[in-house]
Amino acid sequence: MNIHEYQAAEILKQYGIPINEGIVCETADAAAEAAGKFGGKVVIKAQVHSGGRGKAGGVKLAESPDDARSAASDILGMDINGHIVNMVLVAPAVDIQREVYLGAVVDRDGRGVTVMASAEGGVEIEEVARESPEKIHTETAHPHLGLRDYQCRRLAFNLGLDPELVGGFAKITRAVHKAFVDYDAGLAEINPLILNGDGEWQAIDSKITIDDNALYRQPGAEELRDLREENEIEVQARASGISFVKLDGNIGCMVNGAGLSMATMDAIKFHGGEPANFLDVGGGASADQVTLALNLVLAEPDVKAVLINIFGGITRCDVVAEGLLEAMGKINVEVPFVIRLIGTNQAEGQKMLSDAGITVVETMDEAAKQVVAAAEGSA
Ligand code: GDP
Ligand code: MN
Repeated sequence: MNIHEYQAAEILKQYGIPINEGIVCETADAAAEAAGKFGGKVVIKAQVHSGGRGKAGGVKLAESPDDARSAASDILGMDINGHIVNMVLVAPAVDIQREVYLGAVVDRDGRGVTVMASAEGGVEIEEVARESPEKIHTETAHPHLGLRDYQCRRLAFNLGLDPELVGGFAKITRAVHKAFVDYDAGLAEINPLILNGDGEWQAIDSKITIDDNALYRQPGAEELRDLREENEIEVQARASGISFVKLDGNIGCMVNGAGLSMATMDAIKFHGGEPANFLDVGGGASADQVTLALNLVLAEPDVKAVLINIFGGITRCDVVAEGLLEAMGKINVEVPFVIRLIGTNQAEGQKMLSDAGITVVETMDEAAKQVVAAAEGSA
């Protein structure tokens, strides 16, 4: 789950990290008022679930409240990498002596949380990672002992920091790691972490993502969710217990079980097609659930054909067939679809479908081949 910069900053502040505290505004007038409160130069920043705001024109400096009003009105409503800006953060502008990068991620290769730091912080960090990865220094925390002090100091030395800055940097690094673990983050990042005009460390851009699988034990996290930032179909799916991930292709998939869903997407790709989504309708899919799932798949205008691949293990094929027929009675399915239905009570299920004039394909391979052809035919 993604959260906004200002929310991530509030979290990091609880861990003693000096942040540049601002005011969240939804209108240009509110931004002018906030600028007036701070007095002097302010920075106006788009609050969207996307990086690269600076490059997209979503971060502007303003000298006066009037300036702030016009900067905010430019930024509000802006589309940044597909995200519409509904809010801006207004904060006192800071003088930047130096920008560094500090982040933590779940590192599968390192089998732990890896903290990363680079002296080349700021808006070009992706390019640094790509072109000179040696400029990004890493330390992997021990799963039980955590991130040790010497690791934090080693990062600081690798950045070439003056000795008097090492202690402060190490403290912030430890705090980021602690926040990461406490919040079950997938990513926690300060970019840039700066040395301000007074030579003090300050976080001026914070980012945290929370692992969806940990939300059940993060009671406060749901309050941080901003539904305006999320894919509408994914939101509906989550509310009904269906795992749905939107993808870029044109073949809609409705499958039961995460493993079978993955295998189905592989089979589609193997035959030269591209899945439009991952959808796991769940182990015990009821008629209602199937109707809902089919609605979700068809809600995407890019979908040119649908593959329904159900293995009746806990779910009985006749129940699934009933659900499918009920769903198709309610929804006008305008695109071609291919059904493969095997497992418990498959004969009954297949008969119900064929009585209704729907052909059922026997193997997954054949089903994938047919749906790819159908998508090409109707594209
Ligand atoms: P991002 O582009 O989405 O990563 O947004 P950031 O919040 O990191 O802002 C982009 C860049 O704007 C930063 O890397 C800074 O160089 C600059 N910036 C942000 N806030 C201030 C500020 O208060 N003063 C100055 N001088 N620059 C700022
Ligand atoms: Mn940034």
